[in-house]
Amino acid sequence: MSLGPPVTFESNTDSLQAAQYTWGADEYFMYIVATWTYNTVTLYWQLKPGKDLSGATFTIYRSNLNDDQYTTLATVSDTWYYEDRNPPISGTVLSIHYKIKITKGDFNHESGPVYVFGNLNTRQKLLAKAILRRLLFCPRYWHTFEGVLLKRRYNGVRCACVDSITKEILNSDCTTCFGTGIQGGYWQPPSKVAMITRTPLSLTPTLDTNLNMGTVAPQPIRFQTPANIPINKHDVWVHLISNRRFYINEVQVAAEVEGLPLLYVVEARPADLKDVIYRKEIV
Ligand SMILES: [Zn+2]
Repeated sequence: MSLGPPVTFESNTDSLQAAQYTWGADEYFMYIVATWTYNTVTLYWQLKPGKDLSGATFTIYRSNLNDDQYTTLATVSDTWYYEDRNPPISGTVLSIHYKIKITKGDFNHESGPVYVFGNLNTRQKLLAKAILRRLLFCPRYWHTFEGVLLKRRYNGVRCACVDSITKEILNSDCTTCFGTGIQGGYWQPPSKVAMITRTPLSLTPTLDTNLNMGTVAPQPIRFQTPANIPINKHDVWVHLISNRRFYINEVQVAAEVEGLPLLYVVEARPADLKDVIYRKEIV
């Protein structure tokens, strides 16, 4: 019996409303976020559930100036991020902006402009960077664990394990959708996600791979993590060294500037070792 999130295909919109990002949100996009690290701008987006956009393509445009002259960068599909490894780096890098066009058959939808660091002005952006730097300067008794995030899919091709009438997931151990009802189940963003905690993971029973958890519910762990990748309830975080996997229970913004989240406090529940999420391959 899997301990995976008890949700049906029609999806749990409450959990999505916990999304902390609101930029780029419109009728089709839950959010679009542009983050900038190491001279790469990464766009992340999520579609609103309930729209039949499986198989849609996403065309990425960039404007280098404060005008509407957009250049086409790429067209991608079956993915929810794009890395712009060649942004025009200069003093004005933070003023570049992007937009995304969804295309499926005759259907087209174009997002509004998406700026790096939201729509903060220059002073606010510098403040945001300074706050983040200070927050990430951890005291010695905090521990940082490197991992990868598995973003739960809410759009895509419905898995054969979903009852076509009730929309119920009939097999929570399905290795095609991993209990999500959407083929593939999760997608993996390119950047690693470091979780920071006061509790050394190696000393907690939740990380003892020999432990037989039996029917005892494992205790959730609280982490801090920089908010440069959107994290939502029901996403999964995988600690790379131990391969332990955690379901995200709750996400709160611990620090922000003008509505731009800088730091999350995340509560995560260790997945039972028999949970189907352990069958998901990390790439
Ligand atoms: Zn399935």
